Amino acid sequence: EEKKFSREIPLREASYALYNPDGVARSLTGEVIKRFENKGYKLVAIKMLNAQRSVLEKHYAHLADLPNKNIFPEVVNHMTSGPVVAMVWEGRGVVEGGRQILGATRPWQAAPGTIRADFATDVGRNICHGSDTVENANKEIELWFNNQIVEWNRGKVEDAIYE
Ligand code: UDP
Repeated sequence: EEKKFSREIPLREASYALYNPDGVARSLTGEVIKRFENKGYKLVAIKMLNAQRSVLEKHYAHLADLPNKNIFPEVVNHMTSGPVVAMVWEGRGVVEGGRQILGATRPWQAAPGTIRADFATDVGRNICHGSDTVENANKEIELWFNNQIVEWNRGKVEDAIYE
């Protein structure tokens, strides 16, 4: 049902984001992080890694069911072509809101101002993955981070600037 008030949405919902090798190669890592940070989401896990094929095959298992059987191996191959950056972001409504920041899967359909509209043209080079449901986000956080996330609070700005 429709949520009208912020407090109906859990504050600590977590979303998983995976920076594709194309995003890393194009030095857009900071750009995506900046947009998530500016929005107010909190970074609670981050790592760069050469993703294992077995992990990617689990992560992208839903693509194996597509009528075009080439897409699944193509996506897995691309995702092993270079390092990825995996992140977990926390915040109210972050799964849906994070997908809004990324924009539609196909960059030519993505709304102006989204990452995929602003920086990508091809669906297989669309910069960054974002979890589509809270359930999938939780599965992906287990798969990529073994549920190891950092609990922290922003604290006072004064204390972060002055010793
Ligand atoms: N993908 C692709 N070609 C397709 C469909 C998907 O290259 O026809 C890639 C694309 O990078 C996409 C990813 O596979 O982001 C996962 O597809 P999904 O449908 O889950 O889209 P997403 O959730 O990433 O928007």
